[in-house]
Amino acid sequence: MRPMAAGRLHVIAGPMFAGKTEELLRRVHRARLAGLRVEVVGHRLDDRGGPDRLSTHIGRTVSARMLSDAADLLDVLAGDLPDMVAIDEAQFFGPGIVPVIEQLLRAGIQVEVAGLCVTYDGGPFEPVPSLMAQAEEVVKLTAVCTVCGADASFHVRLRAGGGDALQATAEQVGGTESYQARCRSHRQAHGSA
Ligand SMILES: [Zn+2]
Repeated sequence: MRPMAAGRLHVIAGPMFAGKTEELLRRVHRARLAGLRVEVVGHRLDDRGGPDRLSTHIGRTVSARMLSDAADLLDVLAGDLPDMVAIDEAQFFGPGIVPVIEQLLRAGIQVEVAGLCVTYDGGPFEPVPSLMAQAEEVVKLTAVCTVCGADASFHVRLRAGGGDALQATAEQVGGTESYQARCRSHRQAHGSA
């Protein structure tokens, strides 16, 4: 029988290009080495790895359930419970993922969440900040500023094709052509694209 202790919530947060997915998959790999059953979950908007895989900017991939709705994650409670659920790009699921994660935790599942905590204009990007508030562990990763090489806790969207909002959601996981990591001193996008 599974002990009825609640699961722990670990959040891996940061801007784009900080290696969040890489860190998440490192933890998945370690858990599997330890014999734990791990369910890896991504969002369908993240198509870097194809329809049933997660992949990172530097090429590591792992098979994953790619969902479009946070509620679909509750399916894992129906069968044999996994020991760990690892969720990538949590920001795509929106605020609805918070109560879903709380249910997984109450069921005793360890939950590892990676996601953007900051928007391209420097504001909090829910729901990751709310998850950080209740997590047992938060790892805040930085990227490398493309201007000066300092630690970058922001990313900016470079003006492309008139700067309308087409990239606002799906391209938050896009390539290097639309977004750049920036430090606090260089967080304004103007003058660089
Ligand atoms: Zn800089």
